[in-house]
Amino acid sequence: MSGDHHLTVYLDHAATTPMRPEAYEAMVPWLTTSFGNPSGGHGVARAAARAVDEARELLASLVGCAPGELVFTSGGTESDNMAINGVSGVPVCSAIEHHAVLSCVSARGGRVIGVSSDGLVDLAALGSVSGGVVSVMLANNEVGTIQDLDAVADAIDGRAVLHTDAVQALPWLDVASLAARASLVSISAHKCGGPQGVGALIVRSGVSLTPMLRGGGQERERRSGTHNVAGIVGMAAAVQACVASRSSLVPSVAALTASLVGAVSGVGDVVLSAASAPRLPNIANLRIGGVEAEALLVLLDEAGVCASAGSSCASGAMEPSHVLAAMGVPRALSRTAVRFSLGYPSTSSEVASAASVISGAVARLRMAVAS
Ligand code: PLP
Repeated sequence: MSGDHHLTVYLDHAATTPMRPEAYEAMVPWLTTSFGNPSGGHGVARAAARAVDEARELLASLVGCAPGELVFTSGGTESDNMAINGVSGVPVCSAIEHHAVLSCVSARGGRVIGVSSDGLVDLAALGSVSGGVVSVMLANNEVGTIQDLDAVADAIDGRAVLHTDAVQALPWLDVASLAARASLVSISAHKCGGPQGVGALIVRSGVSLTPMLRGGGQERERRSGTHNVAGIVGMAAAVQACVASRSSLVPSVAALTASLVGAVSGVGDVVLSAASAPRLPNIANLRIGGVEAEALLVLLDEAGVCASAGSSCASGAMEPSHVLAAMGVPRALSRTAVRFSLGYPSTSSEVASAASVISGAVARLRMAVAS
């Protein structure tokens, strides 16, 4: 099969994680024999509509909203765009948001709020917000910091619509409770073991949002376009599997991440970004002294270890991380940062072999610099 090649260790689960078997199996009928368009009126269409309804009910129960509050989208990027562009007034966001939020905020002349050196949003700066949407991500994709959204909601005190990007949080955290006070919540299937290209925006009842996509009036006029039936079914199944395994997976993945950090730290001069903030169990952003992340990633890739520098972007180009910059990390040091992100399939033997490959590659690069 094309696209197949031998992987030693995949440590880029924050970019995307393999499909969970539950998701894949739930999707197959909707990719094969049951192919209806849920907007139609006949039996084949009605079967597809029922599948979307059932997935909507299941997913809503898992993320803590009413079924009618879920708007299915093409993924986290669209959900973020919809949230920022759909609310009138000047948008505000934190400086460490994903570009799907930041670019929309800057295109609309919005305001960006700073963060501490640990990546925690400046709550005092939110005190002056009035009107529009305020977007603060529940968990960050580059360094893994978790924000206290209740404190954010207290700081804005109902003067603005609160949006949170919970795309990275959903696999690991109880979004239903942690984002309960956010009016708009973005999620994406492929970070949870669902397929790429499907997500949702929770739009709490009473929040009015201008639609971005107009047409057939699907999703109660909030997002037109023929439903991605298989994707929606797969997302609900993936999130269900995720939530069911979360309580055992979080401590085991946190321990694996800690052991990776411990082993890599053995090379000396290694700093874990956002070390003292609450963080996701699966992300370790390591700044490895004297090593260019780009060069390290090439060596790791050659050895079959997949990681990334900060976030991944379509061009694959390395730009200095805006997240580390916002945390006050000088540019020269942010160029040494590599993000290792684990996932539900990660194992201790993978971590051990990756750690030895990483340590060897770091030693090689340092030697080359020294010689
Ligand atoms: N928001 C965050 C925090 C992400 O990590 C990502 C994925 O990289 C996105 C949004 C975009 O989601 P999607 O890939 O589904 O468009």
